[in-house]
Amino acid sequence: MAYDIVVLGGGSGGYACALRAAELGKSVALIEKDKIGGTCLHRGCIPTKALLHSAEVADETRESEAFGVKARFDGIDVAGVHAFKDKIVNRAWKGVQGLLKGAGVTIVEGEGRLVGERAIQVGSEVYEGAAVVLATGSAPRSLPGLEIDGERVITSEHTLTMDRVPASVIVLGGGVIGVELASVYRSFGAEVTIVEALPHLLPLEEESSSKLLERAFRRRGIKYELGVFFESVKTTDTGVVVTLANGKTLDAELLLVAVGRGAVSAGLGFEEAGITIERGAVVVDEHCQTSVPGVYAIGDLIPTLQLAHAGFAEGIMVAEHIAGLNPPPIDYAGVPRITYSDPEVASVGLTSAQAAERGIEIVEQVYDLAGNPKSQILGTAGAVKVIAQKDGPVVGVHMVGRRIGELVTEGQLIYNWEALPAEVAQLIHAHPTQSEAVGEAMLALAGKPLHV
Ligand code: FAD
Repeated sequence: MAYDIVVLGGGSGGYACALRAAELGKSVALIEKDKIGGTCLHRGCIPTKALLHSAEVADETRESEAFGVKARFDGIDVAGVHAFKDKIVNRAWKGVQGLLKGAGVTIVEGEGRLVGERAIQVGSEVYEGAAVVLATGSAPRSLPGLEIDGERVITSEHTLTMDRVPASVIVLGGGVIGVELASVYRSFGAEVTIVEALPHLLPLEEESSSKLLERAFRRRGIKYELGVFFESVKTTDTGVVVTLANGKTLDAELLLVAVGRGAVSAGLGFEEAGITIERGAVVVDEHCQTSVPGVYAIGDLIPTLQLAHAGFAEGIMVAEHIAGLNPPPIDYAGVPRITYSDPEVASVGLTSAQAAERGIEIVEQVYDLAGNPKSQILGTAGAVKVIAQKDGPVVGVHMVGRRIGELVTEGQLIYNWEALPAEVAQLIHAHPTQSEAVGEAMLALAGKPLHV
């Protein structure tokens, strides 16, 4: 069977590519072995955000007295939490399937394998494409000798089907997934300790954001061990005993392994077709084309950003490139990043360390949310930090606070349009909103501080 484009993998990257290609009049086959929507829809973004919302409701119920509301927190109904999560996931799943059907994309159910340069075999059928897009995503990684048993030693995927709230959890890895799930478990009532080898939680974020998160987590009773390597784990009848490289031992009911995700590239015929792979990830050029002309790779399979919206953007760019529209390459620094814990941590653009690496002379302004009435109503501590090139545009916006992730969109526009602080300071921010914190930081940078 011959198509203009054959896409292998129906996750965020794959289905976005299929939809855009169909919109551009291409015939498209989309091959998926499990469920259209992939990790993000079924095991990642959406179900975890539903859990985080249940967690937020639990915390607000506990804190209700502070707002003058009489409500009693009686615990977590795990089945109810899953029912809410599943309802949201299923609705979105139906929506995506409907979009693909409406666009005329042929969905092929089954496991595919690259056979030859631009052909994918599923069972006894071979789907040939004028172009092929690989979008097989990623899977949870572990550490050498650390066996995931799904009972005592688990990954994020097991969290999504947990049948109880554990009394205690050790989270191995203080990156985005570890931090978000630590936040959920704590709100659900578990004792939580995060172990991170680097000196801070969310080590890729601006250091001041990591420190604010650490302070907020400490206040919430989330413990962490930073700058220390995991050495071993022993499972017992009641839980796990984890030994760290500094000799310290920790025990808990569960060990959640959140040490990152590896590209799904092995055993799929990629290397045999001549595709270059480095450390498991497929190597691509600025338009996501692999070392084999006409074969593209997108999403978590390539070493860019492991984010659904980066996958969407890559899928769209590839569809347009194949259609000859010559889309501009993606500026990955301009892709917003959000960690949806309580508090949220969000950023776009460069950190101060990255600016220094690029030799950019910077000025910075921090606006503490203690001065923002809306943040005080929401009961959140945190800050917005703006980094600008000296006498030049904004190069980074970083923020920490409850529900502050939505604000990153403003930072994204500012960064991508290379706005000067004085230009943003001219914009009038609605009062009272947390967005005023961005306006206040810009006013201060423009030399006319208001509430600083
Ligand atoms: P995937 O979504 O993994 O899709 C790949 C698809 O390919 C899968 O459906 C798989 O079944 C299929 N496949 C693989 N091999 C084959 C084969 N041989 N034949 C047929 N089909 C195959 N990102 C965000 O932007 N925001 C978030 O809040 C967020 N939260 C996350 C929370 C968690 C717990 C996790 C794990 C991830 C989260 N992510 C988040 C990351 C996001 O889920 C991924 O970046 C995104 O799903 C990557 O999309 P993809 O299309 O590359 O791969």
